[in-house]
Amino acid sequence: MIDLRSDTVTKPTESMRLAAYQAEVGDDVYREDPTVNQLEETAAEMLGKEAALFVTSGTQGNQIAALTHCRPGDEAILEANAHIFLYEAASFSALAGVQSRPIIGDRGAMKPSEVEAAIRVEDIHFPRTSLICIENTHNKAGGAVLPLENMEAIYHVAEKYQIPVHLDGARLFNASVASGVSVKEYAAFTDTVQFCLSKGLGAPVGSIIAGSKSFIEQARKWRKRLGGGLRQSGIIAAPGLVGLRENVERLADDHANAKKLADGFANINGLIVEGEVETNIILVNLKNTELSVEAFLEKLQIQGIVAGAYGSNTIRFVTNYGVTKDDVETVLKKVQMIVR
Ligand SMILES: *Cc1c(COP(=O)(O)O)cnc(C)c1O
Repeated sequence: MIDLRSDTVTKPTESMRLAAYQAEVGDDVYREDPTVNQLEETAAEMLGKEAALFVTSGTQGNQIAALTHCRPGDEAILEANAHIFLYEAASFSALAGVQSRPIIGDRGAMKPSEVEAAIRVEDIHFPRTSLICIENTHNKAGGAVLPLENMEAIYHVAEKYQIPVHLDGARLFNASVASGVSVKEYAAFTDTVQFCLSKGLGAPVGSIIAGSKSFIEQARKWRKRLGGGLRQSGIIAAPGLVGLRENVERLADDHANAKKLADGFANINGLIVEGEVETNIILVNLKNTELSVEAFLEKLQIQGIVAGAYGSNTIRFVTNYGVTKDDVETVLKKVQMIVR
């Protein structure tokens, strides 16, 4: 099976399994797990932040950010197609009691002037704007890389009003490898950052949330409240460390494979590749074919390939380390056959 549904489907590599086996562990609620401590220190250093916290998932990291930065009844500005807004089961409102204020962006990038205009002034009718969220790479925009200048401009607006900026950087390392901008440079225009170890980096479990020391102290308590205080979690942190050491540079291979797929799809009659493919996500629109999304996916599956439905006419393909160059050729051949 060639699995292009997501980069979350990757299984831990041999070195990750070995690292898990050999990990030194302790009770992390007592902060006695040396492997977790090492992962958190490594991640904080890579991002240029004071401290970091190992959390169970990207969603948990984003929720902890909202819970820590905001109070119930506050408002958070985010992009209208943000993962937090679309795909986290409304947890900003359900858990943090935060109302979302969506702004439509261009390939995931909100206009700084529109962000500024959305910031609430003091008025008895208004909630308090207490968070601005950005997403890099932007999932729903097809893995688009947020320009550093956009992040910088939004950060300056946020600074002016003293509102923290949280980066949902589930695929921040993809952005970095594609653009040549370091994760540290991106993180410099944020207050807090979440990134996933369990996507392109290939680890089985977990995300990192990073920020100031005092933010992470509070975040740690929120993680505990959410039931995310884990014990000998070095077992799952060790593969995360391996991901950071061994799997960052190779994201370029996923991006090259994605480009190849996109170029191939664009040459198949009827298929429309939505937007530029900058990283490891390809969105293919089927509206000019005779196939529905369901029919296309079913035919694909019969050929041993799986991808994801992504809206009424759109299929999402995500390259990952389980997908080889040969697989790319195979997928193009099979898709050509299906669409014809
Ligand atoms: C996957 C993803 C998340 C959530 O991560 P999980 O580990 O699946 O909870 C958050 N934001 C973006 C942009 C994502 O792609």
